[in-house]
Amino acid sequence: MKANIGLIGLAVMGQNLVLNMNDHGFRVAVYNRTTRTVDEFLEGPAKGTQVVGTHSLEDLVDSLETPRIVMLMVKAGEVVDQYIEKLIPLLSPGDIIVDGGNSLFTDTDRRTRYLAEKGLNFIGTGVSGGEEGARNGPSIMPGGNPAAWPAVKPIFQAISAKADGEPCCEWVGENGAGHYVKMVHNGIEYGDMQLICEAYQLLSEGLGLSADEMHEIFAEWNRGELSSYLIEITANILAYKDEDGQPLLEKILDTAGQKGTGKWTGINALDLGIPLTLIGESVFARCLSAQKDERIKAAKHLPKPQGQFSGDKKAMIDAIRDALYAAKIISYAQGFRLMREASKEYKLSLNYGEIALMWRGGCIIRSQFLNDIKQAYEKNPELENLLLDDFFVAAMKQAEAGWRKAVILGIELGIPTPAFSSALAYFDGYRTERLPANLLQAQRDYFGAHTYERIDRPRGEFFHTDWTGQG
Ligand code: NAP
Repeated sequence: MKANIGLIGLAVMGQNLVLNMNDHGFRVAVYNRTTRTVDEFLEGPAKGTQVVGTHSLEDLVDSLETPRIVMLMVKAGEVVDQYIEKLIPLLSPGDIIVDGGNSLFTDTDRRTRYLAEKGLNFIGTGVSGGEEGARNGPSIMPGGNPAAWPAVKPIFQAISAKADGEPCCEWVGENGAGHYVKMVHNGIEYGDMQLICEAYQLLSEGLGLSADEMHEIFAEWNRGELSSYLIEITANILAYKDEDGQPLLEKILDTAGQKGTGKWTGINALDLGIPLTLIGESVFARCLSAQKDERIKAAKHLPKPQGQFSGDKKAMIDAIRDALYAAKIISYAQGFRLMREASKEYKLSLNYGEIALMWRGGCIIRSQFLNDIKQAYEKNPELENLLLDDFFVAAMKQAEAGWRKAVILGIELGIPTPAFSSALAYFDGYRTERLPANLLQAQRDYFGAHTYERIDRPRGEFFHTDWTGQG
């Protein structure tokens, strides 16, 4: 009996996706560069399943029903291109290659067009949810060549997470659309994590709360509007004790790693000219955390402001919650605004409501809150910015005062809140009718004769002034 799909790359994501597919009745053939891993997988986690092991790409391809679907779950970058080149001579027109790794959307764009020229259909798909998601239901964001989707759809929708019974997997769009959306998802993940970290530092250093007290607070927050996977795991992390009974969290070195997808999102936002300040700050916060030795030196030379919080702790805890919620709204508003621009620029035809639906289950950023975003786009698919939706207008009004208090607490005590405060600056800028860019334009005209428009003249009429009167 032929297999329904072949999968190359039996690291953590690949193995778990294969087991997930097997659970849903699909017959999967597998291959891995280090073939010992194939044998170990079949003798270990895949023992007793109908997974078929192969030791060469030829055997893998021969074991598949047509049209053949070969999915790559390998290290992103050159390795994907190398496998594509090896597969091309083995496949027939109409066969499908799927890349499920974290590829850059421009690479996926290029690969889709390249393979189409060879009669092969390519899908580049985001898969989110880490090991647990891959095993039990990830969020899957496929894009590429639409001709490939009908054959892949039953498998992907079966194995994906479900939110209210609907699969967290839908066709995102052509060429690099799937990986584009996955990239923004990862950027938002950086933002969500940074926001939680800032809340944690304000609670612990600002209010002097213990890990157990913070565990209670995050558990409580997880029952309200902030309810999400990341808040839930944060509550669990705060409760976790090391062998000596002390919170393990306090013993973890404060230098964060990153694999680059947050950075890609920030670079793309700069390319498209869309403010994505919260995600940008989140990437830079990780970079700053990595400068540990320098920070140790600076802490000696540049002492923090003296002082302690002496107000109403309960009210400040609520203010920090409001800051987290309001800044999270800003982050998603910026992320969706970026996707709106990308959709126009790269002709992706993105459906924002569907994207919010895909992120509601399976992935790291899954949350209650994505329902509200889905509803906003259902009401108005052309919504310019989430901040203009009635629900979010009301949410911002309700959270704004607390958000400002939390940022002021950080400023007074010298506790950094780059995401909370940059989000607030964006909010204040976004809702300001007249910004000081009139002065910017005057400066540009002064030193560079870049010209300016006037508010008392029609748009599109440009003026230059001889500012020094010296010609
Ligand atoms: P990974 O560590 O990114 O990649 C390991 C796999 O790639 C192994 O099968 C390895 O084969 C293969 N590989 C590496 N270099 C190779 C080369 N030069 N030639 C041939 N094969 C090579 O694995 P992963 O963490 O499971 O992730 C797979 C993909 O999913 C990546 O693109 C990753 O970014 C993405 N992703 C990961 C997560 C996660 O939570 N880990 C979540 C979402 C998406 P060998 O066994 O022979 O070394």
